[in-house]
Amino acid sequence: MLKNDQLDAWDRENFFHPSTHLAEFARGNLPQRIVTGGAGCHIEDRDGTRLLDAFAGLYCVNVGYGRPEIADAIADQAKELAYYHSYVGHGTEAAITLAKMVLDRAPANMSKVYFGLSGSDANETNIKLVWYMNNILGRPEKKKIISRWRGYHGSGLMTGSLTGLDLFHQKFDLPLAEVIHTEAPYYFRRDDLDMTEAQFVAHCAAELEGLIAREGADNIAAFIAEPVLGTGGIVPPPEGYWAAIQEVLERHDILLIADEVVTGFGRLGSMFGSDHYGMRPDIITIAKGLTSAYAPLSGSIVSDKVWSVLEQGTDENGPIGHGWTYSAHPIGAAAGVANLKLLDSLDLVANAGETGAYLNATMAAALADHPNVGEVRGEGMLCAVEFVEDKDDRRFFDPSLKVGPQLSAALLEGDRTIARAMPQGDILGFAPPFCLTKEEADQVVAATVRAVNKVLG
Ligand code: PLP
Repeated sequence: MLKNDQLDAWDRENFFHPSTHLAEFARGNLPQRIVTGGAGCHIEDRDGTRLLDAFAGLYCVNVGYGRPEIADAIADQAKELAYYHSYVGHGTEAAITLAKMVLDRAPANMSKVYFGLSGSDANETNIKLVWYMNNILGRPEKKKIISRWRGYHGSGLMTGSLTGLDLFHQKFDLPLAEVIHTEAPYYFRRDDLDMTEAQFVAHCAAELEGLIAREGADNIAAFIAEPVLGTGGIVPPPEGYWAAIQEVLERHDILLIADEVVTGFGRLGSMFGSDHYGMRPDIITIAKGLTSAYAPLSGSIVSDKVWSVLEQGTDENGPIGHGWTYSAHPIGAAAGVANLKLLDSLDLVANAGETGAYLNATMAAALADHPNVGEVRGEGMLCAVEFVEDKDDRRFFDPSLKVGPQLSAALLEGDRTIARAMPQGDILGFAPPFCLTKEEADQVVAATVRAVNKVLG
């Protein structure tokens, strides 16, 4: 690639970047990076800078960059048949095979998988299916959806509403009225510092119970949640959380949608987060790890319980009025099949568990005692370090200081290591590819320590 070309200027003049300060980028005040290649846990930009990507893109390149097995599968599929739709009973070998592979790996009592393109559209599908289901069951009032503050479920109209982060609501007239939010299971940020973890779990369940009482269980269709809060701060649930929440949901006949866009296909060291935490979801959202982002593909896995009502619905009303042109796109499906085979053949889910535990332990050993580190937490190949101004009374930094972004910038400049400054709070997030080695984990930790010392002393 030529270095004296127009790309830098074209980028600022023409390209509308998602999740970006648009004005600052257009003015040239935000850095740009044009990424040209990747192998294993590293990416490379067109200046020849090689970076250790400890966030796997957007926690999605789970098998690592540059896997020829997936690239070849995509090319073969494109040459043989780049596209055919999957409406009214049509299909391709890749899509049918992938559906079987997904169901073989899914938690118990799952029946079928509908394929979309992104985590956002899969969650839009899920909410439509839940509404359809309750109409078929003759309970048209039972439609509200409960999600959690700090949950992340996408940035569409419904999914941006489900997302419990202010940035995704402000000035977009969201959340929509059908969506209501409840307490995040974020023990470190509990209001009452005297609460034990067990008391906090009881508090979360009581908050949910109170919300249901105020809204009326007859008006609430489903509860949507990530097994581990992701973009909201990478927060594993406190012990006993899922058992307590499910007891409330089941008592009020409220469906559980497990959003496994991040956790699905191995990130916690288990194939699904639902199995990891003993969750019994009615619908599961999958995306990122389904293809390791080699091609866009997502899915909604529906349980036997949901499926039987969908069948009843089409018997009564005709074909289901839901589908995208690109549902089950053969190229995405071929990428998915190759990706899941690679996960198995390289035993990458086990490595996510083992090396992830090593990364978490090493990070905690290196940083937990630092006066500005409030908490080091994680599960599997997910890790977060949360920073505070004062540890003893858990006083957070003034957000205008942008301590989190300063730290991720220092990691990048100092050690060419990518960690994500999570959007709400001063939290560094790590979610490397599953092929991370212990040596690379050590590098990530050493880079983080250097960045912390540089920014916070
Ligand atoms: N759900 C979860 C848990 C996510 O983390 C994300 C994206 O990060 C989404 C849904 C939305 O997926 P997408 O960005 O592919 O629309």
